[in-house]
Amino acid sequence: MSEAADALARAAAAGIHCLAIPTPFQVGVVNCYLLEDDPLTLLDSGPNSGTALDALEQALAQRGHRVEDLELIVVSHQHMDHLGLVSILARRSGAEVAALDALAPWAARYYDGMQADDEFANAIMTEHGIPEDIRLALLAVSQSYRHWGATVTVTRPLAPGSELRLRDRTLRVLHRPGHSPSDTIFHDAQRGIVLGADHLIGHISSNPLISRPLDAPLDGGPPPGRPHALVTYLESMRATRAMENVDLVLAGHGEPVTDHVALIDERFRGHDRRARNIHGLLGEQRLTAFEIAQELWGSVAVTQAYLTLSEVLGHVDLLVADGRVVEQHEDGVARFAATS
Ligand SMILES: [Zn+2]
Repeated sequence: MSEAADALARAAAAGIHCLAIPTPFQVGVVNCYLLEDDPLTLLDSGPNSGTALDALEQALAQRGHRVEDLELIVVSHQHMDHLGLVSILARRSGAEVAALDALAPWAARYYDGMQADDEFANAIMTEHGIPEDIRLALLAVSQSYRHWGATVTVTRPLAPGSELRLRDRTLRVLHRPGHSPSDTIFHDAQRGIVLGADHLIGHISSNPLISRPLDAPLDGGPPPGRPHALVTYLESMRATRAMENVDLVLAGHGEPVTDHVALIDERFRGHDRRARNIHGLLGEQRLTAFEIAQELWGSVAVTQAYLTLSEVLGHVDLLVADGRVVEQHEDGVARFAATS
């Protein structure tokens, strides 16, 4: 048995079944998890699509359940591949919906939140040198994607550090922002299992996207200063690295993570390398974050402009914090220069 199959078999023995649900996104399938416990619990839902709903119904049926049997739906974070179907499933089943308390107001006004997020992203892209035609194209894509998600009414807000008690297990609710502001992981310390969603993914580095803070007013324009998503994410990974009683992290995409310390150390090394590369690029020139992204990734910096911009800014934040790079503003555009 492969290591991944063995890990999934261990999860299944603990009553946790991985349901792979298709998404229209580049990331491929999303892993939702069915906890055969009391209440019958589903972690994450897949996107708001007929294809995803059909796949979920088939996956539930293979375990002898129907959508109507669900009693609790838990949301790991605000991304549409994880929460898109939640409201449909909750309406059909009458299930309670649990999520991080800070996510509840955002999820209740999903469309307003997404609109405000787009405006926020546009302001960040403008400040960092992304030309208008690229910004408009990205906004159009984002708007066409919006309906893969949907409004969610959270009936059980979860405080960070609190416990979610099911008949056969107790899950500790841990806030791990970085990949998104609402990333929440659930730790069953007794079994050494973490439901990790997108906080840690084995085969890809979870992108710390620069996101509008969950508590920012919906109509207040961009908040002062940009959130330091990578700094936040590294702090979250440090907290996870220090956790005891973790044998298995069940991820939102790809295979389970069986050595979270080794994976986190690999991520730390990768981020160090990238920061060094960016510092090297700034050796003799002042560049915008968009120019840095183009140097690093060429045309991908255009087609995935916000993703790559977030990646560059995350590393620049680390270099600025170390005093090795300074940020200079001129005519509304930020440029970065090396100090050493
Ligand atoms: Zn995500």
